[in-house]
Amino acid sequence: MKRLSASPAGVFEEEGKQGMTDESSRPTDFIREIITEDLKKGKYDHRVHTRFPPEPNGYLHIGHAKSICLNFGIAKDYKGTCNLRFDDTNPEKEEQEYVESIIDAVRWLGFDFGPEPRYASDYFGFMYTAAEYLITAGHAYVDSQTAEEMREHRGTLTSPGKESPFRGRAAAENLDLFRAMRDGRHPDGAMVLRAKIDMASPNINLRDPAIYRIKHAEHHRTGSTWCIYPMYTYAHPIEDARENITHSICTLEFEDQRPFYDWLLERLAEGGLVQRPLPQQIEFARLNLSFTVLSKRKLIQLVTEGHVTGWDDPRMPTVSGMRRRGYTPEAIRNFCERIGVAKRDSTVDLALLEFCIREDLNKRAPRVMAVLRPLRVVITNYPEDQEEELDAVNNPEDPAAGCRTVPFSRLLYIERDDFLENPPKQFFRLAPGREVRLRYAYYITCEKVVKDERTGEVVELHCTYDPKTRGGDSPDGRKVKATLHWVSARHAISSEVRLYTTLFSTPEPGAESGDFRQDINPASLEVLSSAYVEPGLAGAVPGSRYQFERMGYFCVDPDSTRDRLVFNRTVTLKDAWAKIQKAQK
Ligand code: ATP
Ligand code: MG
Repeated sequence: MKRLSASPAGVFEEEGKQGMTDESSRPTDFIREIITEDLKKGKYDHRVHTRFPPEPNGYLHIGHAKSICLNFGIAKDYKGTCNLRFDDTNPEKEEQEYVESIIDAVRWLGFDFGPEPRYASDYFGFMYTAAEYLITAGHAYVDSQTAEEMREHRGTLTSPGKESPFRGRAAAENLDLFRAMRDGRHPDGAMVLRAKIDMASPNINLRDPAIYRIKHAEHHRTGSTWCIYPMYTYAHPIEDARENITHSICTLEFEDQRPFYDWLLERLAEGGLVQRPLPQQIEFARLNLSFTVLSKRKLIQLVTEGHVTGWDDPRMPTVSGMRRRGYTPEAIRNFCERIGVAKRDSTVDLALLEFCIREDLNKRAPRVMAVLRPLRVVITNYPEDQEEELDAVNNPEDPAAGCRTVPFSRLLYIERDDFLENPPKQFFRLAPGREVRLRYAYYITCEKVVKDERTGEVVELHCTYDPKTRGGDSPDGRKVKATLHWVSARHAISSEVRLYTTLFSTPEPGAESGDFRQDINPASLEVLSSAYVEPGLAGAVPGSRYQFERMGYFCVDPDSTRDRLVFNRTVTLKDAWAKIQKAQK
């Protein structure tokens, strides 16, 4: 598998072909090339109509986001249309909760599918009619073999299958049996309707695939109207044709299904049930992301087994999880554009996704000061009852973001990591006798270290400030090597901060043991319950995003209350010191 990764310069490159067309800034790829060619030939009367067809059996993840960006993105580029269609052909696994979460995710990502989504179940009636047509035309038969017999007769990749003894049933008999199936006169599994194609085909998918099965189950939309349900492979081409889809884009595992897709629509077109030109299926490689699992089955396990707090846990690769974590739709769309589409499987480095998030938040997130692991600092020469407001820039990347003031007083908090009693060479922050700058405030010098008598832990620093350095510069031109963030203890808002790292500790979860859960990272969440943020954040609403200066990007979590803010770390900043520390270890 090829890998997409960060080059040393922080620029991301893919080995495959990827670029921009000359005439516009539209991304180009092999799928857009096919579409451009079809438009030139007038194949679909100059229409482009795509669809995104999720099965409502889980929440959408970043892989689905790739498919959404591709399908909706193409519709947008070519002034076409993209449908959101729920593939709800399996009555047992689907739930309304999932339908709602999917609608929400698609809209949040910034795409428009019109007033209503479509449903495969909208076409159950038509699919049934089409099946009766196939039976009458001699293209389908009812097979009464047991599931096991059918499996045995299917053959293998190297040997042909064996025809069912029921394959020769007359059309009239098949029709009677199929209607009896529909009318509920047979139990689950008693028989199936199969397409009559070729039991010797080298493509197993063409060895008389099942197209209808009996299932006495309630459906989330059609209730108990049906006790037979179409198979996905039969339903999907029909849905596409009914919606006049031009390009039916799906992932590579459906490549071997394409001959059946075409066979079915050809037969139905012959019978006048669907119109030409027929939709065409095009396959692309699914997204795999390092340190992540992208399979609904595995994500469901993470939720039901309690490894995470829910589908929207900020560590989940779901759209709702990424949203709660503070990712922006713009950054996700940008990520999907950068990775492009290819015909070969690959794994994308998680660092690329984080790079895209940082890049976007850097432009838009206001900077604030927050101390995550507080250490008390007393400014001994600052009057007890005095306080003042200092000017601070909201976003150096965005002049329009303006300024704010932050309060300064005698008792402050700084980051515990910003002080070392015995600093090694490369450590330039606060230390005994050393002078540093407090951002937007003053130069301070550490005069005394106060320790807990019992544990020896540093609990407080006594510092002096130089009043002539107000705003952060010294009139005599003396230099300091570090600038620290801080908050005024009296004014700061006590908050909870949740620090996330990857949910898995290995790049390819489960690669070694076979069970992805073995690689769950036990330290993927660290909760800091005594953090302090500057007072301007009072009343910040869930979803608000900030850069905590020097600490990373953070987002207000919906768990916040009026009295207590809760923040999620969206992504770290690059930390030069952490890198040095790591290198030393
Ligand atoms: P999963 O493998 O997670 O169970 P799925 O393929 O069963 O996903 P669907 O709801 O059927 O999920 O997917 C809807 C659409 O999203 C399909 O067209 C599918 O091909 C596409 N898709 C699913 N996973 C990915 C992925 N990792 N990368 C790109 N597209 C994906
Ligand atoms: Mg699927």
